[in-house]
Order: sequence, then structure tokens, then C-alpha cells
Amino acid sequence: MIQVRLFTDNFYILDDGRVRQFLIVGEKKALLVDTGFPDSHVYEAVQSITDLPVQVIMTHADIDHAGGLKDFGSCRLHEADWNMVKEDVRLEPLREGDVFECGGYRLETIEIPGHTYGSTAFFDREKKLLLPGDSVQKAGPIYMFGAHRDLDLYIESQRKLCALAGQVETIIPCHHEYPIRPEYIGRNLEDAAALKRGELRGEKHPYLPCRSYKGKWTEFYYDK
Ligand SMILES: [Zn+2]
Repeated sequence: MIQVRLFTDNFYILDDGRVRQFLIVGEKKALLVDTGFPDSHVYEAVQSITDLPVQVIMTHADIDHAGGLKDFGSCRLHEADWNMVKEDVRLEPLREGDVFECGGYRLETIEIPGHTYGSTAFFDREKKLLLPGDSVQKAGPIYMFGAHRDLDLYIESQRKLCALAGQVETIIPCHHEYPIRPEYIGRNLEDAAALKRGELRGEKHPYLPCRSYKGKWTEFYYDK
């Protein structure tokens, strides 16, 4: 069951306890960031909030974000994640610098490959709000195992976000605690770098094909 919360003016957070989406309602259209699991019923939740046309923009194409895409029919998604979408959905490219304005928000696209090759963040400079998908989290676990992941790129992307951290006040990740402070970008980076250097000890995950590595602040699920 999705919980809907009006977080700030025109900005709704949809949360089914596993993953969250963001809906911004403007005057003529609404903007939805991510679509949840196939059984999250994000479409119904959106319909209960607005009957305006909805534009979908995607942080990345993991199943917990792209599972509801077929209900919306089309989305903007970074091309590097297109091969992850199995359903018949109209995909339109999403690139660095693409801007989406709606309901007093101005979301700018930032490419942050690593968690997936096509991962993107959305940043409202004026509101100092960052939507990083899964790439920034308070404690994680951040999934970095299996196909579609690249730890080197993740580290590079965290560095790119770190350069913006001074302009960020609020980060709303798609999983676990929110909102979180901008310090967590650097904390995730520090722990990912330690993971890369082989300094973290991994424990076999009880059922996922990966090991759990706990850094000072962040847990990563990783398999190399
Ligand atoms: Zn996710």
C-alpha cells in the first residue's frame, strides 16, 4: 500500500515501504520521478492525486524504479539503461543538463553512472534539493553487484556530486531514511573508495548473490 505525503509545495512523496517516487504537480502537467515495482501500483496512486497529464523521468531502470513504466507508456531515461527495460514502453533519451520545470520546481539532470550505467540525479539549484535515485543513501545497503554496475564509475560520480554538495541542503533518496544531509555524498564516496581499495571485509549475504561490505557509514552489496 502506497503512502502519499505532501512533502513541500506541490511535491509529493509516494512510498510503499520498499521504494519511493516523487510527484510534482503543476498547473498543466505533473512530473513523476520513477514508477516503483510492478506491484507498487504507482499509477493508481498518481491518479488519486491528479488527473493532469504525467511526464515520467527516471533515475535509473532497476525493477524497483521501472516496474510501473508500462502503466505510463513512456518515459525519459538515460540511454545507457534502455537495455534494462523489457516491456514495450516508449523510451526517450535523458541527458546531462536536461531541465524539467513543473509546479515551481526546476529539475536539472545530472549523469551519475555507476549504480547503473544510465543512473541520473535530478537537482533543483534554487531549492537546493537533490534527488539522487539510489546513488546517495544514509546507510544503504547500496546495490553494487551483478550486471549493470560499475564501482569505478560510481566513485567518479560521487566525486561529481561532492562538487555540488555545497549547493545542496536536502537529499531525498529512493530508499531508507529521508531527507538526509549533503554530508552523506562524501561519506558514501569515502566508503566506496575504501571498498575499491579492498579495505572493507565482506560477509556473504544470506540469500543474495553478493557480499555485504560495511564502511564507516555505508553498507554496499558487492560481488567482486
Ligand atoms: Zn532502488
